[in-house]
Amino acid sequence: MVEKLRIYNSLSKKKETFEPLEPPFVGMYVCGPTVYSDVHLGNIRTFMSFDVVYRYLTYLGYKVRYVRNITDVGHLENDADEGEDKISKKARLEHLEPMEIVQKYTNGFHELTQIFNMKPPSIEPSATGHIVEQIEMTQTLLDKGLAYEVNGSVYFDVAKYDKNHHYGKLSGRKIEEMMESGRALASQDEKRNTIDFALWKKASPEHIMRWSSPWGKGFPGWHLECSVMGTKYLGQTFDIHGGGLDLQFPHHECEIAQSVGTYGKDPVRYWMHTNMLTVNGQKMSKSLGNSFLPHELFTGNHPLLDEPYSPMTTKFFMLQSHYSSTLDFSNDALKAARKGYKKMINGLRLVKQMQYVDDGAPQDERTIQQVTNIIEACHSAMNDDFNTALAIGQLFNLLKKINSLHTGQLAFGALGAEVFEEIKTTYIDFVENILALKEEAPSDYKGLVEAMVEIYKEAKFKKDFDRVDKIRAGLKANGIIVKDMKTGIEWAYEE
Ligand code: AMP
Ligand code: ZN
Repeated sequence: MVEKLRIYNSLSKKKETFEPLEPPFVGMYVCGPTVYSDVHLGNIRTFMSFDVVYRYLTYLGYKVRYVRNITDVGHLENDADEGEDKISKKARLEHLEPMEIVQKYTNGFHELTQIFNMKPPSIEPSATGHIVEQIEMTQTLLDKGLAYEVNGSVYFDVAKYDKNHHYGKLSGRKIEEMMESGRALASQDEKRNTIDFALWKKASPEHIMRWSSPWGKGFPGWHLECSVMGTKYLGQTFDIHGGGLDLQFPHHECEIAQSVGTYGKDPVRYWMHTNMLTVNGQKMSKSLGNSFLPHELFTGNHPLLDEPYSPMTTKFFMLQSHYSSTLDFSNDALKAARKGYKKMINGLRLVKQMQYVDDGAPQDERTIQQVTNIIEACHSAMNDDFNTALAIGQLFNLLKKINSLHTGQLAFGALGAEVFEEIKTTYIDFVENILALKEEAPSDYKGLVEAMVEIYKEAKFKKDFDRVDKIRAGLKANGIIVKDMKTGIEWAYEE
């Protein structure tokens, strides 16, 4: 018996059976990228994990509305709501408009999601497109006495909120300890308490990204956009909210406080956090300078890389660990992943072309039971908090059976047509639709054409005209023309 889907909820800190508010609909919000620089491999790990969650929920038959935002405003250089806006800073450095920076890195992000075979979200809202709503939420929090204005900035009053609610319930932090550790900074701060966070910040004269508000020209604080966009598109309480573990505090803790403060309701039923991709045990991070960009990985052009690794090899490497475990980058692990990926994709090619053969062999109940167990284990793995690592192991077990069928070690008749079809659909669904691994054509297809042309030349020299015609026709079918020139044999694209 396959158990129902269970998800580890960072809020209750246990695995819970997944029960959406209004089945079959599921609302899922994932914090998107901050588009002031290229996304690195760590970011990709997080987005890929949620792509698998989205795909698996869809596979289970849920109608998922997947919202993943673009953070194009409001992140200051540090958590204390100080420093320069990262987008403006980049715009200054690259001599571009802030919105050119936003577009450039959004485009780059979209390209990567395609390269890694991730599905686009149902809605991809941006922070700058929701300034009005952010002002409204700030005003509501002011009206409710949970926020205060100082010099054109508005801050959330954490201590006041914590009187009736629990600030720190997601991250497990205690407000007294947070206040204690922040005390040293308090004198330079216009906030009542260092743990208070900005809902709206007054724009300094040099700040380019600014909007009019009841409190003067400014821009929204770091956490507000996700509360606003989550509510707008998924309702005051929705099913799943995800992001990297590093967003749990303060970002998600503040989101809860803002929404509970505004609507009196917990915004999210299941909080999911992905763990970090690390390099030599340290979190891969833009600010630590230990991040690889995906294209550095694809070209191998980075001091930490022995050789290039393809997108699907990288994807396989990531899926081989559970999303909630840290994953340390290593060349050895990527090389092993390349082997694993190729094995899995060869299996896919094989199984797609395999047809049931009525070989007259008698059904073998023991083998049928084994196969059924493996198929159930594939589902159980994913139902156990999206355990892609275990699912991959089970798919390899299934592949052993597929290979036995292919070599004739296992007779088709021993399984029967129905079980065979089940093997086939399970393998294809899991590899193609859930893990979303795809076949990678050899990157050097010209090398393949050159190799064919060499054989063509040899055949011609030996006057093996049957072979000559076959190669010529085969290449032509693929849009390549072989030309016998006076100067030798050449090839060109068919015009
Ligand atoms: P950012 O663009 O920095 O806001 O990050 C986008 C997403 O990537 C967030 O959900 C982060 O938590 C996540 N993230 C950042 N660094 C890593 C990492 N090293 N491993 C996994 N996820 C990460
Ligand atoms: Zn967010």
